[in-house]
Amino acid sequence: MKQQVAFGPRYPGSEGHRKCLDWIIAEASKYTDKVEKQPFSHTWSANGFDVKMTNVIATMNVGAKKTVLLLAHWDTRPTADQEWDSRDAKKPVLGANDGASGVAVLLDLMRAFKETPPPMNVIFLFTDGEDLGPGLDEMFLGAAHYAKNLPNPKPTYGILLDMVGDKDLRIPIEPFSAEKAPDLVKRFYAHAKQIGLETTFPNELQGSIFDDHLPLNDAGVPTMDLIDFTYPSWHTLSDTVDKCSADSLGKVGKAVESFLRNEKL
Ligand SMILES: [Zn+2]
Repeated sequence: MKQQVAFGPRYPGSEGHRKCLDWIIAEASKYTDKVEKQPFSHTWSANGFDVKMTNVIATMNVGAKKTVLLLAHWDTRPTADQEWDSRDAKKPVLGANDGASGVAVLLDLMRAFKETPPPMNVIFLFTDGEDLGPGLDEMFLGAAHYAKNLPNPKPTYGILLDMVGDKDLRIPIEPFSAEKAPDLVKRFYAHAKQIGLETTFPNELQGSIFDDHLPLNDAGVPTMDLIDFTYPSWHTLSDTVDKCSADSLGKVGKAVESFLRNEKL
């Protein structure tokens, strides 16, 4: 997480965005079998320009019949639109939690799975353009692009990690996930309880969240969003490393790793 934040804001077109892309590819290449760039572009309402973006797809193939998709967005919000001061609201966020946290957990999972492979193939998807905005019609762009170009066969299910670094981490069930991926949600929350992480993953509903899981669910890949949306620094200049904790990232990584290792696919 610290490494990503050190690149600075990572919105499409920024220097930090370019550096972070290279870094994710280099890291993923150490631990997975195949790393691909999936480029796409979008004419952005904010300036009328064609914005170039890139998903990174890293595949770990253990020769199993089933494939699980793990995803997180790697871009950050171009504007801190939740800031009170209108000058601050035009500045880009650092995205320690909203961006870097999910990527950090995906990279940790790669390292763990390189050492001891899981019982299924895994696709790690780093989406770009999740947080471009300003409106919902210009968000989740990388996930939507991936959903339009799914591999064949398509993943059995997906797990999205977003804003999973909050020091005070609590991830109740996200309602769209419960509706579109009910079996996955039930199994995951039951497993989290079994391994003593019930406080972090309480078996109760939070508010519905529009996120990268929606285009995947629409494309027929049941996908669950693990997100702690009660984060006061969301889309502000104070979304910095000190609001996050390695302990929170570790709990999410442990929950997902243990869940996948215990899956009977
Ligand atoms: Zn965001």
